[in-house]
Amino acid sequence: MVLYLLQLEATLVNCTNLQLKNGFDHPSHHYHFELVCERRSCRRKVKANVAYDTWVPFPLNEDDDSDSFEEYNSDSSFDEDEYEAEKLERKELINILRKNIPNVHFSHSCECGNIMWVIMKLGYGSPLKVPKQDDETPDIDPGISYEPGLTTTMVAFDVAGAEPINYQMGGGWQVDMVGGSVSRTFQGVDLSDVNVNLQDGEEVKLERPVLIMSPKASFLLFEN
Ligand SMILES: [Zn+2]
Repeated sequence: MVLYLLQLEATLVNCTNLQLKNGFDHPSHHYHFELVCERRSCRRKVKANVAYDTWVPFPLNEDDDSDSFEEYNSDSSFDEDEYEAEKLERKELINILRKNIPNVHFSHSCECGNIMWVIMKLGYGSPLKVPKQDDETPDIDPGISYEPGLTTTMVAFDVAGAEPINYQMGGGWQVDMVGGSVSRTFQGVDLSDVNVNLQDGEEVKLERPVLIMSPKASFLLFEN
């Protein structure tokens, strides 16, 4: 099966365990991203909002006669026989799938006649962590913890008929402070900005700077 893994990358300064509140697998967390129709000469985009505990019926395909012949005809590599064969093959495939997959996490019928859907898979993600610190020299001040370009997987999606892009980081993140005399977890962190300074919004000055720098998300194709 081919899945898209949603990857998180960030540089962590004096913090670790970056994750969404209650973990990436929390069933009511909503993932917002876009889907690009995979059909040639279409590539329309649609916004997707996916949560594990929210299921929708498998997409009902409109009659494929709604396909714009002109749109296909404008493609220089257009071949009518190939097009008809592809249409028939897809109809058969959809009928088989509808019997086997009654519900999905997101579905959409594109204006070009293509249907797309997403099924979310749990159990692939883990928090973005600083690698285990070396505790063999506890007398030495560990200084500032700076870990550039860490990556982790958040969650996996089985996507059909489209390619996922542009995951929206948004708010609702949490991260643990590293070092300092008290342990501390920051809640409700918003990763929409390029750099996030956890000192902002704090009334009391933190013992050390706590930053999340250049948080980025991307979809990685994964075959298992
Ligand atoms: Zn389309």
